[in-house]
Amino acid sequence: MTKNSIVWIREDFRCENNEALSYATNNHRAVSAVYIYNSKKFNKLREAQKWWISKSLDYLKGNLDQFNINLEIVSDEELNFFYNIKKSRDISIYWNKIYEPNEILIEKKIIVHFKKNCIFYKNFKGNVLNEYTEVLKNDGTHFKVFTPFWKSAETVFLKKERKKIIKNKKLLKKVNLLKNTISTKDILPKKKWYKKFEKYWIPSEKKGSEIIKSLLKNKIKKYNYYRDLPGIEGTSKLSPYLKHGQVSIEILWDKCQEAKEGGFRKFINELGWREFSYNLINSFPEMLKGNLRKEFDNFPWEKNKKFFDLWKMGMTGYPIVDAGMRELYETGWMHNRIRMVVASFLVKHLRVHWMEGERYFRNCLLDFNEASNIAQWQWVAGCGADAAPYFRIFNPVLQGEKFDKNGLYTKKWVPELKNIPNKLLFKPWEMDENSQRYYNIKLGRDYPFPIVNHKIARDLALNAFKSIKNINFKN
Ligand SMILES: Cc1cc2nc3c(=O)[nH]c(=O)nc-3n(C[C@H](O)[C@H](O)[C@H](O)COP(=O)(O)OP(=O)(O)OC[C@H]3O[C@@H](n4cnc5c(N)ncnc54)[C@H](O)[C@@H]3O)c2cc1C
Repeated sequence: MTKNSIVWIREDFRCENNEALSYATNNHRAVSAVYIYNSKKFNKLREAQKWWISKSLDYLKGNLDQFNINLEIVSDEELNFFYNIKKSRDISIYWNKIYEPNEILIEKKIIVHFKKNCIFYKNFKGNVLNEYTEVLKNDGTHFKVFTPFWKSAETVFLKKERKKIIKNKKLLKKVNLLKNTISTKDILPKKKWYKKFEKYWIPSEKKGSEIIKSLLKNKIKKYNYYRDLPGIEGTSKLSPYLKHGQVSIEILWDKCQEAKEGGFRKFINELGWREFSYNLINSFPEMLKGNLRKEFDNFPWEKNKKFFDLWKMGMTGYPIVDAGMRELYETGWMHNRIRMVVASFLVKHLRVHWMEGERYFRNCLLDFNEASNIAQWQWVAGCGADAAPYFRIFNPVLQGEKFDKNGLYTKKWVPELKNIPNKLLFKPWEMDENSQRYYNIKLGRDYPFPIVNHKIARDLALNAFKSIKNINFKN
C-alpha cells in the first residue's frame, strides 16, 4: 500500500458516511482531499452552482481539519490532471462515483490510465440507493415507467447487504501533495448575482443534517398536504444538499424509515423519482441530446427569443409563472409544483423547445442535476418516460387559484400585485381601469398584460401536437 493517497472530491462534500474518505484515512498515513475545478463544465452553463461549490469547499475544508486532512483545489480538466500522475508519485486514488454518462466516460478513461501505470485506485458507490445497473426488468431490459421501477428498486435496496462505513481516522499530520492550487474564491461567478444566495442557503454538511432533523420532526407529518403549496415551506429543500452530497441518500432513507409517520411514504417516493431519473439517463443516454420519444423529433417548436426572454425575466403577465421565474433567479431554487407550471407554460403556451428551458434551469438552479432536470423537462413536455401527455395543458390561472389560494407565494415574488384581491390575482387583466386605479396598479406599465391568450395558445399547442405523426403513448 502506498504511503500517500488522494481522495477525489466530486459530489460528496461531507465527512460522515463518505466511503472513499473513510477508506483512505484508515489505510494511509497521508491523505489529501482534492477537488478538480473544471471551468469548462461551469462557465455560462452552471453559474449558480459555482457559488454552491465554492462555499461547499469552504465548509468541507473546515470539517476535514478535524482529521488532519488538507483540501487542495486545482483548476484543470479531470483527464489531464490524472494523466499527469505517474506511478513514481507513490499515490493511491479513491473516489465516490457520480452517475452522469459523460462523467462515467471520463472515469473509464482514468481507470484505463491507472491500470496501465499500475496506480492503485478504488471507486465506491455514489449518492444513490442502487447503481443503475442493479435495477432491471425481469427480462433484463430497462424500466420506462416509474411505479414498477420504484417497486423493484426498493426491493433491490432492501435485499442488499449494506456496508457499514467505518469512521474516518484522524491522521498524524496534514500533507500538501499538489502544486498550483487555487482558492475557493477563484470559483465564484464573475457576476455578483450569487450574493443573493447567501441570504437563503448554507451549503454545509451540518446544515444538511439540521434540515433532515426538522423535516422528520415537523414537515414530514403534513408532507402529503403541504408539498404542493408553494406559499408554505412544506418540502424539505434538501435537493442541493443531495446533489452535492452534503446529505447522504442512504442516511436520509434510513431516517425516513424510522419516522414512519404522516407523509413519509410520499416523501420516500420523491426520492424514488430521483433514483428513476438517474436510471433513465444511464439506460437511455440519448435523452441527454433529445427526446426519448422520437415522435417528438418532428414537433414544430417555435423560435421566439422575445417570449423566451420574457419567460426568463418573469414578465409573461401570468402571475404564477412570473412568481416562479423570479423565485428561481433570486434564490437559485424553485418549488416543484411551480417548476411544472413554468416548464409547461414554456413548452405548451409558448411552444419553445424544452431544451431551451432545461439549459436555463441548468444555469440557475443550485440543485441542478442532469438526471432530474432532463427527465423532468421531458416529463413535462410529454416526450419523456412515463410523461404527462402533451395534450394535458396546465391552465396557469387555475394552477394559481388551486395551489396558491391565498396568494402568499405570488405576492411575495410579484410584489407589484400585492394589493390585488385574490379572486383577481391570477388574472389581473380582468381588472378594468377603475379597479386598477383603486388597487394602485396600471397594467402594461407596472405589470405586463399576458404575452399570449391562454385559450388561443392552448389551441395552437394542440394543433402542433396533432401534427406529429404516429404518436404512441403505450410504452
Ligand atoms: C422542469 C423540472 C426540472 C427539475 N430539475 C431538477 C433538478 O435539476 N434537480 C433536482 O434535484 N430536481 C429537479 N426537479 C425535481 C424537483 O422539482 C426538485 O427535486 C424539488 O423541487 C426539490 O425540492 P425539495 O428538496 O424541497 O423536494 P422534496 O419535495 O422535499 O423532495 C425530496 C427530494 O426528492 C427528490 N425529488 C423530489 N421531487 C422530484 C422529482 N420530481 N424528480 C426527481 N427528484 C425529485 C429531490 O432530490 C428532493 O430533494 C425538477 C422538476 C421539474 C418539474
